[in-house]
Amino acid sequence: MVYRDPALTGIARKIDANASLSLEDGVALYRTADLHGLGALARAAKERKSGKKVFYVLNRYINSTNVCFAACTFCSFAADEFKEKERVFRMTADQVFAKALETGTNFNQIHIVGGHDPRQLSLDYWLPLMRRLKEAVPHAQLSFFTAAEIEYMAKRHRLSFPEIVSVLKEAGLDNVNGGAAEIFAEETRAKICPNKVSSANWIAIHEELHRQGVASNATMLYGHIESIEDRVDHLIRLRESQARVPGFNALIPLAFHPDGNALSYCGWTTGLDDLKTFAVARLMLDNFDHIKAYWMIQGLKVCQVALQFGADDMDGTHGSTDEEMIYHSAGTRSGQYVDDREFRRLIEDAGYVAVRRNSTYDEFPFDWTPPQRELVEA
Ligand code: SF4
Repeated sequence: MVYRDPALTGIARKIDANASLSLEDGVALYRTADLHGLGALARAAKERKSGKKVFYVLNRYINSTNVCFAACTFCSFAADEFKEKERVFRMTADQVFAKALETGTNFNQIHIVGGHDPRQLSLDYWLPLMRRLKEAVPHAQLSFFTAAEIEYMAKRHRLSFPEIVSVLKEAGLDNVNGGAAEIFAEETRAKICPNKVSSANWIAIHEELHRQGVASNATMLYGHIESIEDRVDHLIRLRESQARVPGFNALIPLAFHPDGNALSYCGWTTGLDDLKTFAVARLMLDNFDHIKAYWMIQGLKVCQVALQFGADDMDGTHGSTDEEMIYHSAGTRSGQYVDDREFRRLIEDAGYVAVRRNSTYDEFPFDWTPPQRELVEA
């Protein structure tokens, strides 16, 4: 392949030699004007990992509470319990259980995240609920929490990271969501989320999860006040962590959304920036199998094109009664639910083979339904 940008020729040689890319390489990829060359490099890297497969999951998505005192400046979801009483919600464990099952049981994942709520974020709330869900829908993997929530619970119960991971695993935790990674660069992090888990602890918690056999994802929040160098540094820290203690399944680039938060002046990311970010993530993270284009964040159309820029996953359908609030509070217009036939059409139109998965990327036929025996026992 002939690249219009000579920087891409040098980077292509490094990739052919199986060498990991440097910070300078990542910045050069972001700065290139050769979008087609960048896409071709990322697409080839994706196809070396998973050929023509592109993944999606039938899942339920629940935000269990918006009460949070962390006050991240990019957040439009959190509500102050004392100053914004009309916005506050806090689901009981019974409500979460009922919500998860209200449209049947034909899904492979339950995805739950919430705020730092002193009244909800405790093991007394979560452990019985997790066990109850595991008993009712054993085929559905529990994809719960972020490292920020796990650190909060560890402090609250005076447990070490190995201890909190062990009790959550014992209760049925299969996977931890990748949120709260935001941007690791400490100077930028101090400006956008000073009260949340540190970069070092985010990585330490994920490495402990992986050591104990709990899978996880990682995210990167981009498009706010961070620099391009911050983004590439973030990806390199994830790559180094994966090399130390493997266990990350996917990186999910999260585009900053500006409505209703203190960083509104940053505006929206562009489609070009979104596509470049998928491609750079794919090329920098040579030890990650999956790069997820989450339709809820970048929209279905950008995500479909992202499949030509290194992404190999569109994330979940969500249930038809689910209500994602974190991104919808910040202005996303992507809707709440996508039928899996629509996913399959978008993937196949982009030239790939649609594959249904669970959180840990076990594959299922598109018309798989939970075994009847389990339904009877539930
Ligand atoms: S991003 Fe999460 S931790 Fe930060 S304020 Fe919002 S809900 Fe709280």
